[in-house]
Amino acid sequence: MKDFETIYKKVKKMAPEHHFEFKNDPFWILITTILSHRTKDKTTDEAARSLYNTYRDSYGLENADAGDIKKIIKNVGFSNVKSKRLIEVSKIINHNYGGKVPDSHDELIKIPGVGSKTANIVLTQGYDIPAIAVDTHVFRISNRIGLVKTKNPDETEEALKKIIPVKDQIEFNPVFVEFGKNICKPVSPKCDVCLLTKCCDYYINGKEIKNKK
Ligand code: SF4
Repeated sequence: MKDFETIYKKVKKMAPEHHFEFKNDPFWILITTILSHRTKDKTTDEAARSLYNTYRDSYGLENADAGDIKKIIKNVGFSNVKSKRLIEVSKIINHNYGGKVPDSHDELIKIPGVGSKTANIVLTQGYDIPAIAVDTHVFRISNRIGLVKTKNPDETEEALKKIIPVKDQIEFNPVFVEFGKNICKPVSPKCDVCLLTKCCDYYINGKEIKNKK
C-alpha cells in the first residue's frame, strides 16, 4: 500500500495554490461548481462574479430571467441548460431550505444537477466540512500513482476515504486539481519534473515496458 502522507506532501510542493472565487460562501460555491462543468476556471470565475454582481443571492437568482442569465454566462459550456438550472436550483434552496444551502451530502444530492462531486465541493469549500470531491483530475492522478485502482469516480471516492486522513480532506481536491492542470496533465504528464517518479505506478510501469523493448 502507498503511503498517502508522503505522496501528498510532494504533490503539495508541486501544486500552485488554487483560487476559489467564493470560498466559504456555500451558495456561490454551488453556483460556481455548476457553472464549471466543461468550462475553464477563468471563464467560470468571471461568469460567477458577474452573476453575483447582478443577482447577489438565491432570491435574486430565483427571480431572474433565463435569457438574461444566459447572456451573462454565454462563454460557459452548456449556458442554455445551465441558465435554467440556476433558477431551478435557487428556487429549491429558497423554498425547501429557507434560502440556506444544505450542509449535508444526502440533502445536497437531492438538488437537480448536484452529484457527489459538487456536493463535496460545497461541503469542503463552502462549509469547511471534510469530504472527498472526485473530479476528472483526482480520478486520473489517484489511479496513475496507484493510490487506488478504481473504475469510476464513486469507487474512487470510497477508496480514497479509506486512505486520506480527515485533516487533509478539505484541501485535497484543489491540491490535486492544480497538480493535474500543471504537472500530471491528462495527456503528456510532465514526469520529467515530477517528484513522484519513484512511487508512481504509471511512471514505473512505463519505464519497465521501455526497458523490455
Ligand atoms: S510521475 Fe508522471 S504520471 Fe506519475 S504522478 Fe508524476 S507526472 Fe503524474
